[in-house]
Amino acid sequence: MKAYCFKCREKVNIKSPEEVTLKNDKKATSGVCPTCNAKIYTFGKSQKPPTETMHHRF
Ligand SMILES: [Zn+2]
Repeated sequence: MKAYCFKCREKVNIKSPEEVTLKNDKKATSGVCPTCNAKIYTFGKSQKPPTETMHHRF
């Protein structure tokens, strides 16, 4: 899965991706940029139905 890294200014493969739910109930995947280790996110890629709510800190 890929996400945009603002430091590298390009799409990179997410390192250690994990699914999170934002405060507005949108799903996102958070992880780490393999190049610069910045936190990166990608939105709207969840394949699970939006029934369960996880309360990760964003
Ligand atoms: Zn990066």
